[in-house]
Amino acid sequence: MKKNEKLKIGIYGISGCAGCLLTFLYEPVFREISKIFDIKSFPLIKEDKYKGEFDYVFIEGTVCFDDDIIMLKELRNRAKKVVALGACAHVGGVPSMRNFMDNEKIIKFVYPKYNHLKSSLPEPIDKHIKVDCYLPQCPPSKSEILEFIKCIARDIEFKNYEDPVCFECRKMGNLCLLDKGKLCLGPVTNGGCEALCPGNKVTCYGCRGPCRDANLKAFLELLKEKGYTSKELEEKMQTFAGLKFKEEEEKVSKWLEK
Ligand code: SF4
Ligand code: SF4
Ligand code: SF4
Repeated sequence: MKKNEKLKIGIYGISGCAGCLLTFLYEPVFREISKIFDIKSFPLIKEDKYKGEFDYVFIEGTVCFDDDIIMLKELRNRAKKVVALGACAHVGGVPSMRNFMDNEKIIKFVYPKYNHLKSSLPEPIDKHIKVDCYLPQCPPSKSEILEFIKCIARDIEFKNYEDPVCFECRKMGNLCLLDKGKLCLGPVTNGGCEALCPGNKVTCYGCRGPCRDANLKAFLELLKEKGYTSKELEEKMQTFAGLKFKEEEEKVSKWLEK
């Protein structure tokens, strides 16, 4: 790359709600992006005519259809770095709940006319292509995107937050919802969201995925002692990151002893 030449980026979505893409249009984020990146392609706001290579491609959404896989592979081939943008791309997000439900029934109900799209079981994008960086959360945090962009501008490595939501929640002085009898996944979920939900009196649904070294088994046992059923725990974990929580479980013990 020539001196002063801007990095070339593409901002794309596969099966998603466009909420992550809209985060890029938030004025301070868009201003920073425009400073250091040359936005070659952003189909949400401009026609996608660019066929060249990218330094970075940001991808929103879950892999739900065969066409998503084709698009992912094509983008991967054209990009030096791929960034999974948001909970759907990172951990599967809400669509990944389908992995734990009657899939046939859901497809007939939700896509009665579009079965020709060849729906597959929803998965995060790193199940299909190599991902270099992750910007988690539903939708991703604007401050984290800004931090990521600044790291790129300074050519330093961006590090994801790796402690549980509880760390941030306690720092912010929030009342603990788990102590108040509400099922909160904060102890086993990766923070970095500044405990956004508990700070607004809503329990954590695990949208940033399981945290490093989460002792899932001990956490689930504790919750069971508090009177929660396996079904309640399963449903809560399956809201955003069920597939990733399940992977964790496979490392440590059986999934939710019945
Ligand atoms: S992570 Fe959230 S905002 Fe982003 S595409 Fe998925 S549902 Fe939409
Ligand atoms: S409310 Fe949730 S995130 Fe906050 S301290 Fe309690 S369990 Fe942890
Ligand atoms: S508190 Fe939990 S569900 Fe809410 S944004 Fe943070 S990680 Fe996601």
